[in-house]
This record gives sequence, C-alpha cells and structure tokens, in this order.
Amino acid sequence: PEDVLRVRNLHTEFYTEEGQVNAVHGVDFTVRGGEVFGLVGESGSGKSVTALSVVDLVEDPGRVSEGEIWYRNADLADRVREDDPEAVDGDFVDVLRLPEAERRALRGPSFSMIFQDPMSSLDPSMTVGKQIAEAVEVQRRASSNPRSTRSRTQGYGLGSLLVDSMIPGRSYVSEESMERAVELLDLVGIPDAEDRVDEYPHQFSGGMLQRAMIAQALAGEPDVLIADEPTTALDVTIQAQILGLLRRLQREEDMSVVLITHNLGVIARMADRVGVMYAGEVVERGTLDDIFEDPTHPYTHGLLGSIPDLDDPAERLQPIEGNVPSLVDAEMPDRCYFADRCPNAMEQCLEKPAERSCGGSDQHAAKCVLADGEYDESRALPDDYFDGGD
Ligand code: SF4
Ligand code: MG
Repeated sequence: PEDVLRVRNLHTEFYTEEGQVNAVHGVDFTVRGGEVFGLVGESGSGKSVTALSVVDLVEDPGRVSEGEIWYRNADLADRVREDDPEAVDGDFVDVLRLPEAERRALRGPSFSMIFQDPMSSLDPSMTVGKQIAEAVEVQRRASSNPRSTRSRTQGYGLGSLLVDSMIPGRSYVSEESMERAVELLDLVGIPDAEDRVDEYPHQFSGGMLQRAMIAQALAGEPDVLIADEPTTALDVTIQAQILGLLRRLQREEDMSVVLITHNLGVIARMADRVGVMYAGEVVERGTLDDIFEDPTHPYTHGLLGSIPDLDDPAERLQPIEGNVPSLVDAEMPDRCYFADRCPNAMEQCLEKPAERSCGGSDQHAAKCVLADGEYDESRALPDDYFDGGD
C-alpha cells in the first residue's frame, strides 16, 4: 500500500510561564493507505499533541513551529501546485503550508479525529442524528465548493459549537443528510438506527455514544481517522466491540486509522505498524513484529517488560524507574532523553542519537545507538552518573 501521510520533523511547542515547552520535537512517522498505525507511549509523551498537530487543532498557547506533514491527495496537489509549488511533491501536499481555510477544509474528508470522551464532540442539547446530519451537510457543501467553503465540520468542543451557532443556516439539515445520518449510525452498529437518530446523547450508553461519535467522524468519509485513546474509558467488553468496529470500518471503508493508546495490548491486537513515543519523540518505529519480536530501543524493551494485563483497559503501563526529562526548552538535555533511565547508557549516548535503521524490516528504525551498534560494557556510564542532577 502507498503512503497516505508522511510526518517529518514535526515540532509543536507550548508557551508557558516556565518557558517554551517542546511537547513534540522532531517527530517522524508514515501512515500507509488502509492500515492501522499505532502510536503508543506513556501519557505526556506527545501522542495527542502529535495528532492534534496533524488535524490542525493545536490551541493557544501552542503552535506547530517546524516540520512537514505530507498528505497524499492528487486533486489537492493539482490545485495547490500553481499557487505554491514548494508545498507539492508529486501527489503529496505539505498541509502545514496550506492557507488556513484550505487546511481547515481537510478536516472531515481527509482527516477526522475521535477522542476518549464522546462528549467532546457531541452536543448534549441536540439530537445525535441532527449532529451527524450537520457533519454530513458541512462535508457536502465543502465538496461541492472546495475552495471557498468555510468548513466548520463536526463539533470540536464547545468553543466551535458556540462559533457555529452564530453562523446562519446552522440548524438547517436536509432530509437527505438525515437519511445519511441513519445510514452512518447503522454502519457503526447502532441497532434501530432510524429510531435512535432522534434521541439525545444522554439517552445513549457509553459504548453507543462512542459509536455515534465515530459515525459523526465518518461523515466526510475521511482518508485518515485519528482515534485518541478511543476505548480507554470503556469496560473490557465494550472496548473490544469498539476496536472490532474500528477494524471493520478501516477494512470496509478503505481508511487508514491512527490509533493512539498507552495500552500495548490494544496495539498488539490492532496495529499493522507502530511508533513508540517517549518525551516528545518517536523513539522507535516499525512493523508490529519489529516492535514486539525484535525491539531495539531500551524504552520499548521497558514497555514490553511491563506489558499490562491485555484484557484490562484500565491498567496503565507500569512506570519504568526514573523520570521523564523536562521538555522545557532551556532544561532539555543535549543527550539521549532516555539516558537517565536507560540500563544500557554509554558514553556515546551523551550525544543526541539521530534516528537510524535497525535492520530487519526496512521500516524498522530507532533513535538509539543500539540500532546499529552493540552495548559495550567498557563504555557504560556509571550507575550514579546522572545523580545530583544537571
Ligand atoms: Fe539507552 Fe543510549 Fe539507546 Fe539512549 S541511545 S536509549 S541511552 S542505549
Ligand atoms: Mg493523550
């Protein structure tokens, strides 16, 4: 399968009282057409910020400061080529170089995102069906006039709902769009969809709400669905059903899924390829087999060693001893960010390792000196090397 998304050297920063926080710095990964790409790591590792950067939902005081997000879309490439040839490479467009309106218009038909909490995208005061129909409506308008449409897509939190409510015509949805809403609810496995379409979110169970949110996210028939911890809040049975649903949709709708989770069990079950995030970087990536059978980065080893009960979604990754380094710009060390916690830390790790190929599958790479070298005990850093802080 061809690549659909190539994220290169992505940097996303937040400006706080403590200074500039480099939440994501130098992230690289590739998503192929029709695959599930798993992004795994502890909370705070930058998974969500990475996803929000792709869909252009990073909010103040944050911003994407550097990098490229190449998205394959031949029509878009043709349209953009004239205005900004630099933003186009073959069938790929660097979405970070698109004008704001053009970028926003990608939300829905190109990228769509679902979250842990369905209520972050559903409005409690409107029927489920109408909300989905609105999303359909927006996509229809956008696709009939891709250049000028002010795409407001489905609700992304209360802020956008408030803004949307000020747009005239907001409450109008056609019968056709309502019919499509029923179809979408049916597609995501909601029984009696033609009745339930008129119910309000509070009349739905947690699992059904999750399905409704997925239906809404599918309204634009996205190429890439980004799911951020979509099952973390659900009990085991419902979690399995939702994961099964995502798998089925990904196959039937020929859609790529970026699945973000702290749960390696979910990754093992779902992902074709995997990126492991640590302290704002993808420290290892490869096929599912590369990561599970032949892990290279000591952090990945640590994660696998602490693999929680695969059937218990509430179970967190066991913490690996030691602390995640500060991501405040002025405090960031100029060495491997895992060195303080790494059982294999050597002198050469005091220089920041670039990503290098691990051998094995051609997609297997890690930001670690062990990727193309051996552990050399004679150069090991003493256990207390980092004590006392620096
Ligand atoms: Fe450990 Fe060195 Fe690899 Fe960093 S580069 S993870 S310190 S072996
Ligand atoms: Mg998160």
